Amino acid sequence: MCKEGNCKYLILSIYLQNTCIDGFSTAKFDPVKILAVSDQVVERMYTLAPAGHFKDVDLILGCGDLPYSYLEYIVTMLCTPLYYVPGNHDPEFNSQDARSKAEGGFNLDLKTIIYKNTIIGGFGGSIQYRPDGVNQYSQTGAYLRACALLPKLLFNSIRYKRSLDILITHSPPFGIHDDSDQAHQGFKALNWLIKIAKPKYLLHGHTHFYRNNISDSETIYANTKIVNVYPYKVIEIKK
Ligand SMILES: [Zn+2]
Repeated sequence: MCKEGNCKYLILSIYLQNTCIDGFSTAKFDPVKILAVSDQVVERMYTLAPAGHFKDVDLILGCGDLPYSYLEYIVTMLCTPLYYVPGNHDPEFNSQDARSKAEGGFNLDLKTIIYKNTIIGGFGGSIQYRPDGVNQYSQTGAYLRACALLPKLLFNSIRYKRSLDILITHSPPFGIHDDSDQAHQGFKALNWLIKIAKPKYLLHGHTHFYRNNISDSETIYANTKIVNVYPYKVIEIKK
């Protein structure tokens, strides 16, 4: 929960939790087909994309820890908008440094946008596991970052009667698709954001499935579908 001096955020969150309706329940909504990618370069992307395999995709969402050259290749081949969040292996964002961003894409960290009447928000980074780690945050730090999203969520809830449809993150929420080691512990702040913003989907990366994908990659939590997109997934949202 928000720390000292952030009572206004607490009030905002209570307002959102009690006023926002679930996801797309009453929203006018255009179908959207998403190519979501994270964490690992998939070599066959270099043959699938030119062959038109993803030609009907409306949107590319990046969940972090991918070379920006890979994202730039995909956005160039598909000619569709790209929104992404940085992971713990990505460089620290610097608007003056071209190497810290994917050209042709939009860094959605702590922002929300509307695409085809779908509200999409972003939350980058992972749990802090190295003192000098980039894009790494403590659980408390993650709560403070989540609080920074609240004014945008409030604006959306007033204007669109819902605050968020899709949340893209690098880290999973705490206790969902995460792991017990420090580097792969999920953010508790994301569980909190899900409860107050009520997105229909949360797409994340960071957690690789080493056991031949035996573990489930989709979980429902508080009416939100949590999807581990590693290494990529095509998701069709109809309503
Ligand atoms: Zn990661």
